[in-house]
Amino acid sequence: MEIVTEIQKLKRAHNAVILAHNYQLPEVQDIADFVGDSLGLSIQAAGTDARVIVFCGVYFMAETAKILSPQKTVLIPDKDAGCPMADMIDAEQVRALKKANPQAKVLCYVNTTAEVKAECDLCCTSANAVSMVRDVLKNEKYIIFVPDQHLADHVTQQTGQEFIAWKGFCPTHVKILPEHILRQKELHPEALVIVHPECTRGVRALADRVLSTEAMCSFAREVQVRELIVGTEIGVLHKMRAENSDKVFYAATEHAVCPNMKMTTLEKVLWSLQEMRHEIILPQETIYRAKQCIRRMLEYRA
Ligand code: SF4
Repeated sequence: MEIVTEIQKLKRAHNAVILAHNYQLPEVQDIADFVGDSLGLSIQAAGTDARVIVFCGVYFMAETAKILSPQKTVLIPDKDAGCPMADMIDAEQVRALKKANPQAKVLCYVNTTAEVKAECDLCCTSANAVSMVRDVLKNEKYIIFVPDQHLADHVTQQTGQEFIAWKGFCPTHVKILPEHILRQKELHPEALVIVHPECTRGVRALADRVLSTEAMCSFAREVQVRELIVGTEIGVLHKMRAENSDKVFYAATEHAVCPNMKMTTLEKVLWSLQEMRHEIILPQETIYRAKQCIRRMLEYRA
């Protein structure tokens, strides 16, 4: 309680806003001003008059917040909390892909570093990847998609569009196996199955819906069934349970834990505000170019 009180005091003193991704530890989600997906949080923070953003998530998320709010101080409580999938491709590898496929547009998942975004034409989220390809890129014959091969495969299944796809993957979502879903279905035959598009094709094939984390939360609120089997990082269950006390949620597997997402603790949030660390610093040019990539997606959403 003392830590929470101290965090709230420092937050007011610094005019800070605390953001927590859906996969953060429950106690971190509970002290946040906003809990959600990475892009939604960055957009929300940009719309506040806060001077400081504390991003409880992984590094590329804090970078995205900085890109959208370059005038604000953006802090990440643990600078070593990276995203292994985002780190599976760097800017040089994107440049090499572009050189080998000069006629292709480059679409990147929001789970990429700022310097990768700066090399890409367009950004997407797991929520809008299908519609971006169907609507915005419908006239493109060649599209490079980075970094998640499973999201790319999902979009191909939905749209028929083939990609020059990077072979990245989320080490947490690929831990969810078809047998986990089958086992949970056997135990809970009335339950609907919702899974994230970063899951493998075999897992997605067993789902009633393939949804982004935010879409999962909306679906959980609106659907008229009482039980849901959830195939994504287990942190999201905290929010779902808090918002739906009349429903029961089962993790597809308790092994779907992203260790990087769990690196942020209340103590680190406190130290972050006490010492104004660790500040996200990006070159102006990277901010400018990465913003173009995100802006093209936001224009489509608007
Ligand atoms: S859950 Fe997967 S995509 Fe999300 S931060 Fe962890 S490794 Fe990256």
